[in-house]
Amino acid sequence: MKRFAVAVTAILVLALSALPALANKFEDIKKKGVLVAGVKDSQPPFGYVDEASKQIVGFEIDLMAAIAEKMGVKLEIKPVTSSTRIPMLSQGEIDVVAATMTHSRERDKTIDYSITYFSTDQKLLVKKDGGIKSIKDLAGKKIGSAKGSTSEKNAKAAQPQATIISFETYPEAFLALKQGKVEAVTTDEAILHGLRNKDDKPDDFAVVGEAISAEPYGLGIVENESKLRDAINFALMDLWTEGKYQQIYNKWFGKDTKYYIPLTWTMELWP
Ligand code: GLU
Repeated sequence: MKRFAVAVTAILVLALSALPALANKFEDIKKKGVLVAGVKDSQPPFGYVDEASKQIVGFEIDLMAAIAEKMGVKLEIKPVTSSTRIPMLSQGEIDVVAATMTHSRERDKTIDYSITYFSTDQKLLVKKDGGIKSIKDLAGKKIGSAKGSTSEKNAKAAQPQATIISFETYPEAFLALKQGKVEAVTTDEAILHGLRNKDDKPDDFAVVGEAISAEPYGLGIVENESKLRDAINFALMDLWTEGKYQQIYNKWFGKDTKYYIPLTWTMELWP
């Protein structure tokens, strides 16, 4: 009987050691002491290179720094684009995506998301005197957007008679608009205002049209890492209730900034 018990134990130990270690990204991050966030580096004021310091700065960088602080770890940032952010997350190069990424059902099939931390709508950026007022005016015309974005897909659906030209980044699409290679740039209104207002001649351009789609941003987290998702969600809610979220928001989108967007939505808060 005793020998049987020993044999069973030995088999169990062997079987268990053959199982892959249970994933727990939260514990790994705590152990490393570093949270690695993928951020944009050409989208003022979400994430962009500050001309003076040459550092990537912005709303999403400050928000992630505040989340990392709540988790008791340091923040490290890596630049991503709309097309690289999900592959980089899935391959473990970053722990979280904080890069103007809409929470869509389609993307939720492969990654998880935090609660919404920013809310905007998709619109058009055009030349002020170009005669384009709405997506309807773009039949037979070219529209610039970014590869891997919801914007390129939504534009195709909203105006099937237009040609969508997808660039790696939004500033490249904006340059194409200036050069007359496209008639409009389409993406989230908050990003379009950022491109326009950072430009030397913002008055030459206008953000126009009805909302093409709703674009709620969530932080992207690898699938099935529920401890990490809880930590991020709780941090976001605490930042909101403490007023720290609003402080960061006002620094980048407040009345005194050139990227002014009134805060008109409320974060989902769990009791
Ligand atoms: N929010 C949209 C998206 O996630 C457009 C902005 C972007 O490409 O980052 O695709």
